[in-house]
Amino acid sequence: MGYLKNIAIAVLALSLFTFVVLFGQLPALRKTPLGTLQRALCLHLPNGLRSVDSRVTGGNITSKSRRLGQYLFYEQNPVVLILFLFLLTGSAALFLWNALHRLPMSLIVPLPIVLIPPYWFTYLCATDTDHYITPANHQDRLRDYPYDHVLFRPGAICKTCNLVKPARSKHCSLCGHCVAKCDHHCPWVNNCLGRGNYSFFLALLLTLGVLQLYGAYLSYWILKPYLVTDATRSLPWREYLPELGDAMVEAVNMGGLSIAGVGLLAASTAALPLGLFAYHCYLIWAGMTTNETQKWADWRDDIADGGVFKTSREALLSHSRPRSPEGANGAASTGLAVHLGVTEEEPQVRWPISSAQVIVRTNDGRPPRGQETLWTQIWSLSDVDNLYDLGGWDNLMEVLNGR
Ligand SMILES: [Zn+2]
Ligand SMILES: [Zn+2]
Repeated sequence: MGYLKNIAIAVLALSLFTFVVLFGQLPALRKTPLGTLQRALCLHLPNGLRSVDSRVTGGNITSKSRRLGQYLFYEQNPVVLILFLFLLTGSAALFLWNALHRLPMSLIVPLPIVLIPPYWFTYLCATDTDHYITPANHQDRLRDYPYDHVLFRPGAICKTCNLVKPARSKHCSLCGHCVAKCDHHCPWVNNCLGRGNYSFFLALLLTLGVLQLYGAYLSYWILKPYLVTDATRSLPWREYLPELGDAMVEAVNMGGLSIAGVGLLAASTAALPLGLFAYHCYLIWAGMTTNETQKWADWRDDIADGGVFKTSREALLSHSRPRSPEGANGAASTGLAVHLGVTEEEPQVRWPISSAQVIVRTNDGRPPRGQETLWTQIWSLSDVDNLYDLGGWDNLMEVLNGR
């Protein structure tokens, strides 16, 4: 019983740790105990270990592990991808080698259907380069999305690629390219996820979760005879639970590493791809990329601090025209309009909706000087349009169409 308890505690602790590390920094959890725990684990604990290391070894271990971490997570390399494929293939091979002859044909037939897709979608995610912005496709990428004058302003130039950054793009220093509709760089597939391969990534998460659940079910199916005995069936639940615990330990012993170990691993880690899949479903519903959630979170903080103001394109432009009635401050307005990239002619794009909003943050909490009548202070993110949100269903269709 003690053995089973230790396994259960280890699995729970590992799941909680992974959940906190992966999701604790999300804007929605930032100010909750999970966010505090994430900062303690990912910020304060490493800082504490660094200071101990600097006293004991003069920072030797820190600099070596930083170089390794830099290579693993901040340089394009296939180490994590190879590790992922090794773990997936190793577990599946170990399991099938010992399980196939114990399974009925009806459970063997679906195996290729659940086993092949994770490999296929990993391959597609890793090799797709359609989302890289190049001089050849740059003009096309500029016409994908309008600048919303909140998260993305026109005129920003990528110093590495020397190209004007299209709306929703981001330069990835690992991939060495600006990435169209950049979501995030994923070390598991050693590539950025963006316009073109994001839908493959969603399919990878879903099919990987299904494979893990199916593997866990097969393991349960093989070990089922050891789990329920005549003795346990007739007992009241208070006595039944310890009996069941003993039966599970027996089942784990009978199944060994290849059946029980792989089954437990699959069951306990299935929540990771499926949880991440659920999170990306939420992002699609909300019309955001992972990259944009960070930008929205920054705006939410700035709005709470009381330094964010809103006006319309037309109001700003008419204020800055030399002969307009309010033209006394025209020069200042023109300067600000140019600075914000607001021009008379907006670039033509294929996106079906547009917005007239212009949002600005100021350092002193006051509206831009000389334009006090033009700008209205905003106190909630709900006052800002998300131009990239077409509605949940249309957002999903965009993603499924590879856009
Ligand atoms: Zn770039
Ligand atoms: Zn990248």
